[in-house]
Amino acid sequence: MEPILVSACLAGVPCRYDGRAKTSAAAVGLVEAGQAVVVCPEVAGGLATPRPAAEIVGGDGEDVLAGRARVVDVTGADCTGAFLDGARQALAAAEAAGARRALLMARSPSCGCGRIYDGTFTGALRPGDGVTAALLRRAGIEVEAG
Ligand code: SF4
Repeated sequence: MEPILVSACLAGVPCRYDGRAKTSAAAVGLVEAGQAVVVCPEVAGGLATPRPAAEIVGGDGEDVLAGRARVVDVTGADCTGAFLDGARQALAAAEAAGARRALLMARSPSCGCGRIYDGTFTGALRPGDGVTAALLRRAGIEVEAG
């Protein structure tokens, strides 16, 4: 069966910034079928749970990969390095498993696909991917929001 990378919070792991999960039936179905490669890039990058909410400031995940934007949390701390490290670990996990698709948590600065929070911490959205989604896309992995 085809392995699919899955955001851990969608699979029921309480790893979001607020210490909660965002369980989705589709992700749980993949876990139950033995297809899910479950990863939380932010935890893999060394961030604690719970943790201050973070957003990409000055662009999207592709801009972060290119060094043109940063990931900053609500306290003003720069957590770009942890987000990049987590993205690389998520890609490594996908490649190790042979996953060519990913089901990722919507709007997250790591996992968001197509639309993410805009860096103003107001709930507003902008077009673009999170850091992990952008790195996965670069590697040819098909990403979709779960
Ligand atoms: Fe972790 Fe991604 Fe879920 Fe954030 S959206 S908690 S980085 S799996």
